[in-house]
Amino acid sequence: MNKILEVKNLNKSFGNFKAVDNLSFDVFDGDIYGFLGPNGAGKSTTIRMIMGLIYPDSGSIKLIDQEITPTSRNYLSQIGALIERPDFYGNLSAYDNLKLMAELSNVPNAANRIMEVLELVHLDKRKKSNVKTFSQGMKQRMGLAQAILHKPKFVILDEPSNGLDPQGQADIRKIIQSINKDDGITILFSSHILTEVEEICNRMIIINNGQNIREGNVTDLMNEEKLNVTIKSKQKQEIYQFLLLNNYSTRIVNDLLFVELPEKLISKLIAELVQNKFELDEVNQNRSLESYFLKIVQN
Ligand code: ADP
Repeated sequence: MNKILEVKNLNKSFGNFKAVDNLSFDVFDGDIYGFLGPNGAGKSTTIRMIMGLIYPDSGSIKLIDQEITPTSRNYLSQIGALIERPDFYGNLSAYDNLKLMAELSNVPNAANRIMEVLELVHLDKRKKSNVKTFSQGMKQRMGLAQAILHKPKFVILDEPSNGLDPQGQADIRKIIQSINKDDGITILFSSHILTEVEEICNRMIIINNGQNIREGNVTDLMNEEKLNVTIKSKQKQEIYQFLLLNNYSTRIVNDLLFVELPEKLISKLIAELVQNKFELDEVNQNRSLESYFLKIVQN
């Protein structure tokens, strides 16, 4: 499969602070690639380097077969981006804002394309409304429309659902999926929320302190992870002994008993406990990749 983006051994420091630390990853044609990490992990800094807004101390970035250097600018016409909060002329309508942008980037057949993208982001019925009357979610959707207006091959979306309510976030995810599927656009999707990356991305990287923590196919990463089962029971000591005897990986922390095991063995575990007449007050499960990620986020 064709590589759209190749990031190799990228480093960037601000003074003594290393924001991106030997980071490498590839995005392939057709991917919705999740770029996941807690706030401050180095996502925006990396994205700004990919956009050619700042330059790395060392390492390289190749975008659509072109090395990004201070003098290469050709690739910019083939990419689109939604970074930070998109800004529009509040006193102009949605349509007129996009018309201005279409003129700036010489979009062919602009009138049709503007209507196409407005439909894609579900703003076609509001095309005549001034953007100042739009909610944050609508403005973010305008941002998506603007990012894909010139039919780029590759779109970079930096936390596009940040600050939106759950409905607004779900709308954005749906639109991203249709941009990818219907328009054939490869997407780099940065987020600090594992569940939204899991929902729409086929591949992902988790970064923290500017470093690669885990990378790969989303389904593989999710399947290989074990689950953490927590059990609340007055018989926790007895259950603990029983589980140790039966070779489970288990420990007691405060009031709770933790068992780590692959997802497919959970029903067997519960069945064994019930057969042995243990009384369970509460059983919960937590995916370990999720708890691992939450731990990173909370640190
Ligand atoms: P993320 O997008 O994952 O939230 P950022 O890339 O914005 O993370 O930031 C990574 C780290 O680099 C943060 O600790 C941030 O404070 C620092 N940083 C980013 N830009 C600058 C800058 N221009 N000067 C100094 N520090 C910066």
